[in-house]
Order: sequence, then structure tokens, then C-alpha cells
Amino acid sequence: MDLFSISEDVGVGLILWHPKGTLIRNLIRDFWEQEHLKNGYQLVCTPHIARSELWQTSGHIDYYKDNMYIFNKDGEDHVVKPMNCPFHIQIYKAHPRSYKELPVRYAEWGTVYRYERSGTLHGLMRVRGFTVDDAHIFCTLQQVEQEILNLLDLTKHILQKFGFKKYQLYLSTRDPKQPSKYMGSQQKWSHAQNALAKALKKKQIPYKEMLGEAVFYGPKIDLNIVDASGRQWQCTTIQFDFNLPRRFNITYVGADSKDHEVVMIHRALLGAVERFFAILIEHYRGNLPAWLAPTQVAVLPVNNDCREYARKVHRKLQACGVRASLDANPSTVGYKIRQAELQKIPYMAIIGKREAETKKLAIREHGAGKTGSLTILELVKIIKEENKQ
Ligand SMILES: [Zn+2]
Repeated sequence: MDLFSISEDVGVGLILWHPKGTLIRNLIRDFWEQEHLKNGYQLVCTPHIARSELWQTSGHIDYYKDNMYIFNKDGEDHVVKPMNCPFHIQIYKAHPRSYKELPVRYAEWGTVYRYERSGTLHGLMRVRGFTVDDAHIFCTLQQVEQEILNLLDLTKHILQKFGFKKYQLYLSTRDPKQPSKYMGSQQKWSHAQNALAKALKKKQIPYKEMLGEAVFYGPKIDLNIVDASGRQWQCTTIQFDFNLPRRFNITYVGADSKDHEVVMIHRALLGAVERFFAILIEHYRGNLPAWLAPTQVAVLPVNNDCREYARKVHRKLQACGVRASLDANPSTVGYKIRQAELQKIPYMAIIGKREAETKKLAIREHGAGKTGSLTILELVKIIKEENKQ
């Protein structure tokens, strides 16, 4: 479908997004950003490199060094970011915070780089450079449950719009027999785990508890989407963190005028965008719904005599905001239809002598054959409605 490629000259695990792939990617991002703005998030934008000191504080130099790209400039080590968290923390820390401003929710399509051995790389599924639909929520312990409820709603809403309606959820908790394995007080862990479990129960979402599967810095919810073929893909993560707030000393001033440690939640709903994109293409078998299709309408003149009217139709559709293409080649209309079918374009507007005379379009839907005759504006209305839905 000419969506992306990987070039040996660029390097393995690094994705080149072609025009059509970029278009789809931007459509996903635009939708994602709008929904996040509606849900009280603020968008931020952060650099791709940072001084190694930042990663010393975050603990990445000690625990994650083998996966990081490090280079030296002016006698100082710098790191190509493997994660976005420390940057969002710096924005939070840019000025003192009162309990009245919380929760603070920072969201970013943050591109990160992680070294993976070349043998483990696999198409779009496992790469070295990728973008996370990342966000970090800074809140009080009391606000945690409501935040989780909001997150479950937002996740469901966004994934459903991409056609994913079946999920499997996992709640990873601490192993009470090994308290030394975990950062943060037992009271905080219980509070966070209870908030996660309560939110899932309130929303009547079935889940599997994975005792002892939590990482050392906090409990988490993982969501696997189930695609059209019944395969499970790990996608959403909602992760508590009792480690970074302490390492970076991030606090808020409470109603008692004292400093309190803030609760931090990492969350990615789509996960790695490259991976999500691959799952999406598989799920629809390339037949993307009109709102995500790089070309929504292929305008196909039957012969040279109809070409002028076809050009007008094409321009009109574009002027109305429809992504349309024009196949003005001298080939037969049967060949043009086959080409448009191969490109999986949702609508074909076939223009013959009759259509040119009556100012109508013969519409053919992808995979459905002929579906009738419409005016340009009727077709625009159908596509606009699909975009909106
Ligand atoms: Zn994070």
C-alpha cells in the first residue's frame, strides 16, 4: 500500500513514513489530540536529547544503559531519549504547584529511541525508533480513583473509534511476600492497587489479576486488544510510579501549606504508534474506513470525452475537504476500477457520458460493487458524516 519502508542505508528498526502512511498517522494523531484536549489534557513538546545527568537522576543510566544511545559533545555525555517522562517532570517542576491546580495532565506524541538487538527487530512491530502516545498525570492520592475511571472511559472511547471492541485487561500487583522488591510505602501501594481494582469493578470490566507481576515502581493495568482474527495485542498501559516523583523531588503545596509528594501516572493508550499502526492495518486487512483512508474517493473518467467534467468533480471534492484522486490515464475504466480496488479506496466516482450530462456520479463502493448515482454534494455529505462519526 506504499505506507512505509525501512532502508538499510538509514538503519534497521527505523521507519520511513511515506506520504500515505504519514497522512494516516496524522489523522490518528489529530483525532487523539482533540480527544485529549476535550478530556483536560494539555499538549506539550519536548526535545529528543538531554544531558546524561537527567538520566542519572531518573535512574536510566544505572538500569537501562544498554538500551540507550549515548554520545559525547563538549566533554559531556548526552542521551537520545528512550522515554518522555523526565521531560514532562521538568515542565511540572518549572514552577511551584498548588493542590488547586491538580490533576495536571501532560500529553505528547513523543518519539523515543531504544537500542534493541537487530535479531529481535520485526517490521513495524518491534523497532528502534518509535513514537509513544504518551501522557503523564500528576495528582493527589485522593484523585487517583477518579483519574483511573476517566482513563478507562477515554481508552474505550478511542479504541472503539478505531474499530477495536474486544479487550483483555490485566492488573499487575505486588507480591506481599517480597516487600523489599518494591519502591514506596505499603500504604501507597494498597491505595493505588485498590483504586485500580475499584475503578475496573465500577466500570464492570472483567480483568485478570497478575499477582507479583508489578514492576518495582508501581502497580499497573495492561490492556490487550483483540483484533478481527482473534489475536491479542498489548496496547494500553496505565502505570503508577512511586519512584520518579521521589527521585526528582516533585511535590505540590497542600491545603495545609505543606509540601506533599505528588502521585504520578504514566499512560499510553495506543502504545507505540508504529505497532498500533501495524495492528490497525491487519485488523482492517488494509481496508481502512473512509475517515482514515489516505484517498477517500477515486474519480474515474470512462473516456477522454468525460475527462473535463471529471477534473471539475475532482477539484470540487478537494475544495470540499474530501481526499480525492483523479485517474485521467487513457486506460480502460475496468482497469482503473481494479487499480482503485487494489489501493483499497473506499469510494469510486465513475464518470461516463450520462454522468457528465446529468452532473451526477456513478458510485462504486470498495468491495461492494455498484451502489447508485449521487450528486457531488450528496457524496461529500456521506463522507463528512463518516468523518464525524
Ligand atoms: Zn512515562
